[in-house]
Amino acid sequence: MKEKYDVVVVGAGPAGSMAARATARGGARVLMLDKRRELGVPVQCGEALNEGVLKELKIAPDPRWALNKTNAVKLVSPSGIEVRIVEKEVMGKIGYILDRKIFDKHLAILAAKEGADVMVGALATGLMIKDGRVAGVKGVGVGGKFEFFSDIVIAADGVGSRVARWAGLNTALKLVDIESGAQFQMVDIDFESQTMMEFYFGNKIAAGGYAWVFPKGDHMANVGLGVLGGRAEGPAIDYLRAFVEKMPNLRKGKIIEINAGGVPVSGPLERTVKDGLLVVGDAARQVNALTGGGIDHAMRAGDIAGEVAAKAVSEGDTSEKRLMEYEKRWRELMGKRLERYLKAKNVLVSLTDDDLDKLAKALSEVKFEGISLTGMLRVLLKAHPKLLWKLRGLM
Ligand SMILES: Cc1cc2nc3c(=O)[nH]c(=O)nc-3n(C[C@H](O)[C@H](O)[C@H](O)COP(=O)(O)OP(=O)(O)OC[C@H]3O[C@@H](n4cnc5c(N)ncnc54)[C@H](O)[C@@H]3O)c2cc1C
Repeated sequence: MKEKYDVVVVGAGPAGSMAARATARGGARVLMLDKRRELGVPVQCGEALNEGVLKELKIAPDPRWALNKTNAVKLVSPSGIEVRIVEKEVMGKIGYILDRKIFDKHLAILAAKEGADVMVGALATGLMIKDGRVAGVKGVGVGGKFEFFSDIVIAADGVGSRVARWAGLNTALKLVDIESGAQFQMVDIDFESQTMMEFYFGNKIAAGGYAWVFPKGDHMANVGLGVLGGRAEGPAIDYLRAFVEKMPNLRKGKIIEINAGGVPVSGPLERTVKDGLLVVGDAARQVNALTGGGIDHAMRAGDIAGEVAAKAVSEGDTSEKRLMEYEKRWRELMGKRLERYLKAKNVLVSLTDDDLDKLAKALSEVKFEGISLTGMLRVLLKAHPKLLWKLRGLM
């Protein structure tokens, strides 16, 4: 199968679908392809999303995929000290726990409704390169081999991205740049509140990461954790089993789904643009390195990429120079924030369990409503000046 499009998007996750939607909306002819036969499956995600991005991108929350609304956070230190935050400013705004099996499909439907072609069960295996520039995608689909020529390819192929590498960008991730996640969807469990997201810290609980309990419905939650490569003494799933076993409210529960995956916590790629190529979402490492959350950044970057791609096509200039508008805009929107999260992650992984307990003790004595991250750090420094050295990069 051979065909010519203006833009081909590889990957139909949140980044790809938002890119395809914006490209089509901008008037360009776009194809989005994905190796999965069913979009959104298997889930590789804790499924937490702040509501801000939905508002910004004008996506109305739908109870079929926005399962539960959260507005509070509980942080638990290694020795069990709890910090409660009515969530306003500290870690993002009000959030949803999604059903990504439906959410990812919904975003792809939005792209299709806008005019994008969609092809599932289509694995990209390489790029077409002409005169040194990206000129399309080749691969194999349900109906056999394909070659789609295009003026622009958008690489939205997730953490294991190969498209950007095929185009010559350096996408290598070191072991310490990957957070390995494992998650159970559990039923018949108890937790404090439907509206509270729980986070558990400690090097024995989740080396270089944290464990989470995200309520998803009546006596049902996503229970998962991430451990940092090079830190963990075993696979994430072993840590998860031990965590569940340790928690009396979870131990008796039943597991109805197991999922696992990697999160790039390296900070964004140095360059996300080449002649005829844009890189978005996890493929571009546009992930909050502190929390491992990437859906919102993927969606925002995808939206910008699609808008820029459509404009570049209509102007007949898809050179790296023209496409740099994408790089400039996403960095303006989220570059500083992502840098800060990366610094915060590096501080977090340098803390001992004793440090974490001290921090939790200081924070547990403060009422956190509407406090900023900087305000939170000031409290910490006042209580524990010795931690100044470790926290300095964040101020
Ligand atoms: C355990 C875990 C928990 C997480 N929890 C959260 C959370 O609670 N909140 C949050 O915001 N983020 C979370 N994340 C991160 C989040 O899942 C990602 O940041 C987000 O999915 C990135 O979207 P994306 O579109 O860039 O990539 P993806 O969603 O990974 O989509 C990439 C798509 O590309 C397709 N693809 C890949 N290669 C090819 C190819 N060669 N040809 C065709 N198609 C291809 C894949 O099939 C996939 O559909 C978590 C991740 C993990 C692993």
